Amino acid sequence: MALAEALPLTGSATSATDSVLGVSCNDAFTFWGLPQQWRASLEEFNRPSADIADWYLYEYYLAPQERRPSSKLNNYYRIKQLIPLRLRFLLKSYFVRARRKRPFPAWPCEGALVDYWRAWMRKGVEILGVQDGYHIDFWPQGRKCCIVLTHDVESPKGMQLMERIADLEERWGFYSSWNIPLAQYPVDWKLVERLRARGFEFGAHGLSHDGRLFRSELDFQALAPRLEQLAREHNLRGFRSPSTLRVMPWIQSLDFDYDSSFADTDPYEPQPGGCCSIFPYFIGKMVELPYTLAQDHTLIHLLRRDPLPIWREKARWIASMGGMILALIHPDYCGEPPYLDTYQEFLKFLADFEHAWRALPSQVAAWWRCRASLRLTVGRNGPSIEGSGATQAQATLLSETPLFR
Ligand SMILES: [Zn+2]
Repeated sequence: MALAEALPLTGSATSATDSVLGVSCNDAFTFWGLPQQWRASLEEFNRPSADIADWYLYEYYLAPQERRPSSKLNNYYRIKQLIPLRLRFLLKSYFVRARRKRPFPAWPCEGALVDYWRAWMRKGVEILGVQDGYHIDFWPQGRKCCIVLTHDVESPKGMQLMERIADLEERWGFYSSWNIPLAQYPVDWKLVERLRARGFEFGAHGLSHDGRLFRSELDFQALAPRLEQLAREHNLRGFRSPSTLRVMPWIQSLDFDYDSSFADTDPYEPQPGGCCSIFPYFIGKMVELPYTLAQDHTLIHLLRRDPLPIWREKARWIASMGGMILALIHPDYCGEPPYLDTYQEFLKFLADFEHAWRALPSQVAAWWRCRASLRLTVGRNGPSIEGSGATQAQATLLSETPLFR
């Protein structure tokens, strides 16, 4: 059975239900997927771990006014349509370069959260008085890392170039997801269906890049029902905010299965920051799938750098810890030469990653829910995993897991 069929795409795993009730399940015990026998001994040690993780994951290290679009940014969006496109790029490039550099989160790699997970586990085995032990693998079927390709389609031109990129991806054995703004330009839904029939996935890229969705709570409440209704009509279960503007509590109230509006680190977005995570995590009832590679637009237009060396370096770094390589590529910028060739080079590079799980975002979200609800026990005959979807899961010794080593 294919993995997509084996995993429930929706459903309320215990952990997801807990988070609806306001209990985070981003705690270290759940993250590592540890044996139930260890639960009591580690309970007290585990208790603060969710708050520590959430400090990174929900960007609590930022001041409250930095966890939402700034008033300057809201003013920019009010006049954005009056500024010619070329001048917009120049202005953006200037402001991004002039922005005060912050030491945290580092870019392109920020290891603070993985360092915390690792340090927690080392202390955990010390408390237990053991040298080693099993945990549930981060990825299904023994895969060692995860590769997810996503696209935001910013314009009709981007839509026209989708099939070229899709053809390339298929040639190298990948399928990707495409996020579409639902009220910005006429969408070719027949093309969407053709790509869906080939195995590609579609998500909602908000309504429009007009900055309104997260401008104020009133705007959000006025627009969210229309966004959800359009997404339902077209069977779109994933969300990425236009320009990755975000207000975490509002995003988690949306009716989607997963969100992908956070980066692990991105100081170059209009709302800079990052969750520091190279793994999925829970954001309310949704699974958050942070993008973990620098955006093509950022590298090509804002920083004027060759994307390939930066993507390769970051992808290697993530794979070395068994994390999730999640790319965000725009057909608008990478759908034609020379950047189409650059993207093909990157696909070739990724195709060589052995034991990587090449997955669609909906599959990863379903897996992360499933994994959090599984129960690992270790008996005389070794580890055993119970729960819905357990046949996809495997247990590995911590000493054989790159993140622990
Ligand atoms: Zn966009």
